[in-house]
Amino acid sequence: MKTCDLPAYVIADLIKTKQVSAVEVLEDTLERICQVDGRTGQVDAPEASSEEDLSTVHAFTLVTEDYARQQAGKIDKLVKEGKNPGPLAGVPYTAKDIFTVKGIKTTAGSKILSNYTSPYSATVVERMADAGAVMVGKVNLDEFTYGSSSESSAYKPVPRNPWDTSRVTGGSSGGSAAAVAAGEGAISLGTDTGGSIRHPASFCGTVGLKPTYGRVSRYGLIAFGSSLDCPGPLARNVTDAALTLQAIAGQDSRDSTSATTPVPNYLKEMEKDIRGMRIGLSEEFFRVTYFDSESMELVENPIDPQIKDAVLSTAGFLAQLGADIVMDVPLPHTKYGVPTYFVISRVEASSNLLRYDGVKYGYRTAESFTDLRELYRKTRGEAFGVEPKLRMLMGIYLSAAQFDKGYYDLALKARALMRKDFEDIFDPRGKYHLDALLTPTAPSTAFSIGSVYGDSVMMAYSDQLTATTNHAGIPGLSFPVGFDNENLPIGAQVLGPDYSEGVLLRIARAYEKVTEKEDWRNKRPPILSKNGN
Ligand code: GLN
Repeated sequence: MKTCDLPAYVIADLIKTKQVSAVEVLEDTLERICQVDGRTGQVDAPEASSEEDLSTVHAFTLVTEDYARQQAGKIDKLVKEGKNPGPLAGVPYTAKDIFTVKGIKTTAGSKILSNYTSPYSATVVERMADAGAVMVGKVNLDEFTYGSSSESSAYKPVPRNPWDTSRVTGGSSGGSAAAVAAGEGAISLGTDTGGSIRHPASFCGTVGLKPTYGRVSRYGLIAFGSSLDCPGPLARNVTDAALTLQAIAGQDSRDSTSATTPVPNYLKEMEKDIRGMRIGLSEEFFRVTYFDSESMELVENPIDPQIKDAVLSTAGFLAQLGADIVMDVPLPHTKYGVPTYFVISRVEASSNLLRYDGVKYGYRTAESFTDLRELYRKTRGEAFGVEPKLRMLMGIYLSAAQFDKGYYDLALKARALMRKDFEDIFDPRGKYHLDALLTPTAPSTAFSIGSVYGDSVMMAYSDQLTATTNHAGIPGLSFPVGFDNENLPIGAQVLGPDYSEGVLLRIARAYEKVTEKEDWRNKRPPILSKNGN
């Protein structure tokens, strides 16, 4: 086995005990990237077409070889000098191209930032470096993280799912999930505004953790919905997600919304047993409800039955370990999650997008202009893709003085009701007093590239099982629980009250241990058998 396929905690241990060097691990990872990734995403480049192009992952927008070699060299030097190189010593990781890294291009998957090099690093990127991790590159995403398939990136080819390269990776942290699944870095940093860490994690068979809002600093993260955005890890196992959260969590004086709540020892929390824990299941999470514009009715559709079965079987394993499974937990406002998300996220996005105007930084039209408005119009017209344009227009409309009572104000009320749903079920003195809720992460497994893109309603409903978590600000963790009959990964998620990351990691870790010997645990993405990997 190559070092790039090892868990992060094993890599760090081997490096600290001098059994392998950080540079060797890095070279293994760079070799893997060369073998399976294919063309790096470029703005407005052609989509994948030749056979070889169609069977590679295309997770990256930028491979930062030189930067990584410098970082790995520093780690090896620390080890040699007998100094502590950190808990993630020499672990190769990727960052979604929404995090700024000093001196390195940060594009947000948009042409409007195609020439932007950041003068500062995101707090999470600094903290990963302090923990000894080595950044091997930036990975692709939906433009400004707007999407659930990573297809809206201006950087082509779009990422492909390592389990089946004709399928999407999910999104918007699709490059992150694909890279982790294909051994192109043990960990990736993603962001989750309505499901963007958990959704691609479930499509690509990885672990993905959206922390409590404020648990991890947003400083240096290109903003989408500032009241919803959460950075967090994607990893191939629960321990690596815990280690990463440990490294990046905690207050940051540069983000006034970051929480002062002390950060527990997640590794310790994670290893406790789950006996006596109360874990709920809710019918609300086994269906999607959407407004059908033809019949003008609310339509309910059950989620893919294979996914429901996998989640019920997960509950069975947890029950075997002594957890109490509580059925029929009511979360009556779940069905308003997507419409509410639509309003709040568009209003926040439109406000955040206003800074891209061709004046301060980023792309500027090459055409002539006579006044500032024309400069803005031409720059934005040329350099924003369809999603940011749509979201900007919707956001401005929904928050306009004559409409905001009916949309934005109403959405804020619905958001409070969703928060209340969760508070009720997690209230230690309440009827349900749950420790966690177990649900599917997504209503489907990975769909084919091009099959949903363009149908913004269907795309939006990919988020129905994840968006309420962001409204409530609570944490959610997606973890792999098996495969469907097309050999595509299925994800389940656990949700809990504020700052319950330790409990969620514990449940996922308990499940990981008890299913260690299951056949499906040995499956590897078919793309790895290429070139004898
Ligand atoms: N799919 C959702 C959207 O398009 C969520 C994206 C995210 O979490 N960044 O808005």
